[in-house]
Amino acid sequence: MKYLYALLFLTLTTFTAMAQLPSSDRYASPQGALLVTHIGHASLLLQLNGQNIYTDPYGETADFSGFPKADLVLITHEHYDHLDKTELEKIVTSKTKIIGTPLVATELNGVDVLKNGDKTTWSTIEITAVPAYNIVQKRPDGAPFHPKGSGNGYILNIGGFRIYIAGDTELIPEMKAIVSPDIAFLPKNLPYTMSDAQFIEAAKQIRPKILYPYHYFEVDKAALSKALQGIEVR
Ligand code: ZN
Ligand code: ZN
Repeated sequence: MKYLYALLFLTLTTFTAMAQLPSSDRYASPQGALLVTHIGHASLLLQLNGQNIYTDPYGETADFSGFPKADLVLITHEHYDHLDKTELEKIVTSKTKIIGTPLVATELNGVDVLKNGDKTTWSTIEITAVPAYNIVQKRPDGAPFHPKGSGNGYILNIGGFRIYIAGDTELIPEMKAIVSPDIAFLPKNLPYTMSDAQFIEAAKQIRPKILYPYHYFEVDKAALSKALQGIEVR
């Protein structure tokens, strides 16, 4: 009977935890099945071999209380919609590794700092921090919303399966080095990231196999698909 209760409890808690997750996409990586969930805005959950990797968990997208605990969290920059301490507390444990920028590390304890160009390996995954910044879009005082060198995008390499998570960025020259990743997450909203036209140009240049628009206020995926023949827009 005890076992039955334990089983029931486990089933219920698992079900509750899963029930709150938005639907995910499944990909075959050389290291096993990869589940990709776009929770909303810049919040992602990548699941590989029982490991839960989050990017920018943000409370406006979901209440992370019922979500799986994080093994790794990647923070792209310190803005409130990317560094949300309240949500982080719900998924971070003593074993969670948090990777962020130097500025993120000034606001949060226990952050492993990666600057633009830095690389590290976590578990079986190679992680590279890449630039993410504005060229055109600026604040009224002339400062870019995202100054060069401050924010990170991340490239995850899972045994050759590459995922590009762009962060808050416009189309920048450094994107030329990112050639046909398996999956790309590119931001689309003004004035902080890319216009529709810039987004399309960036996607045509990078040519990912699968493209997720993210960090958007509104998106017309059918129109993007039409403009981006040969790229699957999710
Ligand atoms: Zn930002
Ligand atoms: Zn943002």
